[in-house]
Amino acid sequence: MRVTVDEGTCDHHGQCMIACPEVFNLVSPDRLEYVAEPDESLRDCVEEAEAACPTLSILIED
Ligand code: SF4
Repeated sequence: MRVTVDEGTCDHHGQCMIACPEVFNLVSPDRLEYVAEPDESLRDCVEEAEAACPTLSILIED
């Protein structure tokens, strides 16, 4: 599974981090870090983050 966040549309409010802190981490008000290739065991968590993102900035591939 590969995760990409569109930095151009991400508003850094951190809903993804609330849904899935194992993968998403808002390290400062304007900088989101994330695991680009999280373990498959985290798929549900990542999909919850994708669904929670108000700007549809999270892309999950495979
Ligand atoms: S929920 Fe979406 S817009 Fe908000 S910080 Fe996460 S990726 Fe960015």
